[in-house]
Amino acid sequence: MTNSTREKKTMLGTVQTLELDGLKVHIYTPPDESLLVNSTVLELADRLIVVDGQIFQKFAAEVGDLIDTLGKPIDRFILTHNHPDHYSGFQHLTERFPGVQLAALPSVRKYLVKMGQQVLDVRRSLFGDEIAARLAVPDAVIVPGELVISAVRFLFQEFSDAESEYTLTITLPDHGVALVADLLGSEHNHLFTVQPNFDGWLAVLDKIRLDVAKYGIKTLIVGHGAPIGPESLPANVAYLEAAKAAFASSAKAEDFVAAVKASLPDRSPDLWVNWSSQMLYGHVAP
Ligand SMILES: [Zn+2]
Repeated sequence: MTNSTREKKTMLGTVQTLELDGLKVHIYTPPDESLLVNSTVLELADRLIVVDGQIFQKFAAEVGDLIDTLGKPIDRFILTHNHPDHYSGFQHLTERFPGVQLAALPSVRKYLVKMGQQVLDVRRSLFGDEIAARLAVPDAVIVPGELVISAVRFLFQEFSDAESEYTLTITLPDHGVALVADLLGSEHNHLFTVQPNFDGWLAVLDKIRLDVAKYGIKTLIVGHGAPIGPESLPANVAYLEAAKAAFASSAKAEDFVAAVKASLPDRSPDLWVNWSSQMLYGHVAP
């Protein structure tokens, strides 16, 4: 892995670039205030694929600036899952790059058509004008399966009932890299347990563990913060087991937070588990 320096000096966020055979993968991470939610630009020989669009418009603008510096046409935008910290910023990106399709799983698209604007309205009332006023509705679908794009093999997979209702993962089977969105996180961070899908999520982690072995995955691009390696998988299982137990024994959001922090005192930041508890206990809905 090498860090890109060109983009860094004018940006508030940072860009980490993976130099792979036949493509580069640029992972843009905004500052802490924006939950470190990543946008990933897959730079192929002749085009870009941009995965996830930030929560705040000002950081979506930095993703747009990164896209501009690369000087290649955008093949498509892709949304991994139906959470607003990943789709809000597509308002900026789809306006700035008109004509570029926004693709998502059919299930994610259906969810957004039904709920996306309402979710944005609630987030806007909580976090202000940096949240999109208008939903960018996906206008293309990703069909799970294999696809070769600019001589790079992609494997698109759908997982349900985990961190979100529906999540797309993008594996590069020939490069040892998988983008798993919020299904995994750093062993140092809290996971976003915003719904009580603990068993479903644990089952998904079992499948991911098998895929990691099958495809020799060395780098997992997560939804928030720096990429991780497969050695972080047990810590993710441990987190979900602890959160599941905390939820079972806690009647209130603050009790859940206290129980998680007691089990896993080294995890941070507090903001992430506090926010998740507000969703998990229905204080923020939808
Ligand atoms: Zn997220």
